[in-house]
Amino acid sequence: MDLPFGNESPDLDVLIVGAGLSGLTSAVKILDKENSLNLKILDECEAPGGQLGTQGIRLVSEGQKELISFLNQLNVPLRQRTESEGIYLRPYRDLDRGFLAAPMKFELRRYVNMLDMRMKKFSSLRFPLVKLHKYLNEVNHCERFRLRDRSVTMERHICSHLLFQQSRQFMSKVVQLCSGWPAKKIKYDEFMCLCSCCGGLGVILDLYYDMPKSLLDLSCKQLLDSLLDKLKSISIAQNVTVVKVNHFKDYVEVVDDSGGRYTAQAVILALPWDRVSELEFYPALPKQFQTQFERKTPRILLTQFYMRYSRSFWIYHGYTGDFSTIEPFMVGFEHMPSEYSGYIVHADGELGNVQETVLDMLAEPFGEEMRSPLEYNHQTMRLNTSLSKPQTKPWLRVIWAGSSSVATKNRNLMGGAVESGIRAAVNALYVVRPQVVSWRDLSDIQDKKLYDGVSHNHFSTLLSRLNVYNFTFYSVFIIGIIVLLNFGYRPSAG
Ligand SMILES: Cc1cc2nc3c(=O)[nH]c(=O)nc-3n(C[C@H](O)[C@H](O)[C@H](O)COP(=O)(O)OP(=O)(O)OC[C@H]3O[C@@H](n4cnc5c(N)ncnc54)[C@H](O)[C@@H]3O)c2cc1C
Repeated sequence: MDLPFGNESPDLDVLIVGAGLSGLTSAVKILDKENSLNLKILDECEAPGGQLGTQGIRLVSEGQKELISFLNQLNVPLRQRTESEGIYLRPYRDLDRGFLAAPMKFELRRYVNMLDMRMKKFSSLRFPLVKLHKYLNEVNHCERFRLRDRSVTMERHICSHLLFQQSRQFMSKVVQLCSGWPAKKIKYDEFMCLCSCCGGLGVILDLYYDMPKSLLDLSCKQLLDSLLDKLKSISIAQNVTVVKVNHFKDYVEVVDDSGGRYTAQAVILALPWDRVSELEFYPALPKQFQTQFERKTPRILLTQFYMRYSRSFWIYHGYTGDFSTIEPFMVGFEHMPSEYSGYIVHADGELGNVQETVLDMLAEPFGEEMRSPLEYNHQTMRLNTSLSKPQTKPWLRVIWAGSSSVATKNRNLMGGAVESGIRAAVNALYVVRPQVVSWRDLSDIQDKKLYDGVSHNHFSTLLSRLNVYNFTFYSVFIIGIIVLLNFGYRPSAG
């Protein structure tokens, strides 16, 4: 592609747009390799961190290897979570209530297990044409899309495998949380690719919903402080929304919404892909990147909340503090004695006052004291969407990062943010200081094997399809036939 010649000399070596975990990781990695480079970070929020937030904890699964070694490098400790001992405490969850709780949980467990058993066939790199990839070499472009359309939406898949309304609603919300898309807009194969690069749906559910004590946790504040400490020599400009990217032959110019201009030899866009689609590019983005914007992204919000109380009131009511409702989809948990955090997924303006809604919902099981925390903070953000193929190849001097848009492993998780941040840093160094990039750096950013899940034999995979839904369906069918036959073949008298 022929790029226009600009007539400026760039002020910066590398400009990073987005101060989320991926953008900050890129900056740390670049400075680690070459600390004489002139770097700057821009972010539209008031504080750095993006989805990571500034308070509370995040859970880490053992599959997030890049993240774990990055945390070791930063000296950020991972904690073993402790169980409350000596007293009988229970969680408060929608799925545990009502007389149908047991079969509902049973069918959900079977469904998640069934998806995880099939996950090995899927890979985020072939996203989204996975299942059909072996046919695709022989068919032309139009046929590709026809083939892909045969894959059912997650909504249909859920409805044809789960019997109870509440299980269906729950799974639809999980799909939305993992992918940023409503279940009726995301195809089964796309969702499976996404889950496979995170180690399976079971792992995602553990991180966002079940939060078992076997997972490790880290403090968001500690991680953020440690990153910012490493980056104290560079400038991070908050409340700056980037709106335009002009790509010239020898540099890139970035324009913010108040007309501010920044020029750099290379730019890392550490943003979710739906935010990239809102930027204006000059010259227009090449076709291979534009195909990612074909579907209109829904605007779903997520509010993370954090509260501090004088005591853990939930324990006095006999609860562990684990809380979840399906409508609205809200998850809460105790992360330190008398500290409580969680998140709630909602649409724009849907909840009115989010703080009031959150406190009302918690007050119901845990008591009126929950309405008056000593400290309350919340942060509302757009749910990052992951639907397109991870965009690992840069557009010359414009380099992509971001867990939801670029990560090939642990996509939409912290591990993916670190992976994509490191890859973007190496790509940027390759543009501005190729001599410092080693073979080791290049091999570190190669796409590796994604899902190491267990292999299952055909028989157990087949058996995994047997769930409450098809058991009921086939039972009714067979009983119906028996009844019909009984009526049809009455033995003749005598
Ligand atoms: C409630 C919740 C719980 C989670 N729990 C876990 C967990 O337990 N374990 C785990 O591994 N992961 C978890 N995650 C996921 C993990 O936190 C994220 O995947 C990761 O932080 C994403 O980082 P990122 O840098 O890719 O994106 P982001 O954090 O979204 O960063 C993007 C940044 O770009 C900025 N930006 C966007 N557009 C512009 C623009 N035009 N101009 C300037 N700046 C812009 C934004 O302000 C933001 O700061 C959780 C996420 C959420 C929301």
